[in-house]
Amino acid sequence: MSNTAVTHFDPHAVQRLKRAATDQGHYNLAMLLTVAQTSITTRQLSAESLPRTDRELAGGVAELLPQLQAAGLDPELLALIDRARVSLAEGKLILYDDAPPLFVCRACGQVALRSKPDPCPCCGAGSLIFEAFPASFYLEPLPVPVILDQLARTPDWLEALIEGASDAQIAQAIDGVEGAWSLGEAIGHVLDTQELIAQRVALFMQFESPDLNARAMWNEVASAGLSVREMTAQFRRSRAAMLAVLKDATPDHWLRLGRHTEFGPVTLQQQCGYFAKHEQWHMAQMSRLRRAVDAGQE
Ligand SMILES: [Zn+2]
Repeated sequence: MSNTAVTHFDPHAVQRLKRAATDQGHYNLAMLLTVAQTSITTRQLSAESLPRTDRELAGGVAELLPQLQAAGLDPELLALIDRARVSLAEGKLILYDDAPPLFVCRACGQVALRSKPDPCPCCGAGSLIFEAFPASFYLEPLPVPVILDQLARTPDWLEALIEGASDAQIAQAIDGVEGAWSLGEAIGHVLDTQELIAQRVALFMQFESPDLNARAMWNEVASAGLSVREMTAQFRRSRAAMLAVLKDATPDHWLRLGRHTEFGPVTLQQQCGYFAKHEQWHMAQMSRLRRAVDAGQE
């Protein structure tokens, strides 16, 4: 983790200039400012202490709600955010039915639920000016060859990660922004998600519109009772079998729409890209854990 001197940074000042740049047709300036803002806020937030539990998250949303209301936010969106807060407080996942597709008019800020109005009832902009927001950038589709290439690399990466680590180091829990995790737990989580995506790939190959049954990752138990070497070996086997199946997928297969209770309609391409990004996100966590246990040894 890079050490960052956190100085005052006003996101609104950047937003103002981005809007002005866009209005004046300087789209590349808006892009440069977006990159600057994303970099600074990500760097700051990755070093900050954030809510770690559903309950803390629900509390944070409860504190924010009066501000959103005072700012005149669309009442339907406000109600959805409040319902999400209640689900969180009850320890439940926020499902697609409670977070349907939402759009914002980039000209005036009007919010639309489920479909884009044509034109915007507030400012008259055409429907294409309404921006959609995927639940995660994990769902933004990647090209198929990129996905396959990245998915094929992970078994080697995992084996290199644990090379030379002792059983005690593998089992050592290290505190971090995601809570306390050991290398063994992180690898177990990545194996569990591999077993989940392998199941979903099989469903996509078999059915036109598979039911993808959203399941919370922490309920998965494929890794239970396995040593870390057994987990990486099982990961390699499961990944190779899945990639062999995907090699035969046609363009039609990649564009099939499955039904996901958390994300709604998702394609095979989105699902595979999602899991490729998910495990690469965990690579940052696992690299940090390996550095920490190695440093502890000295
Ligand atoms: Zn509008």
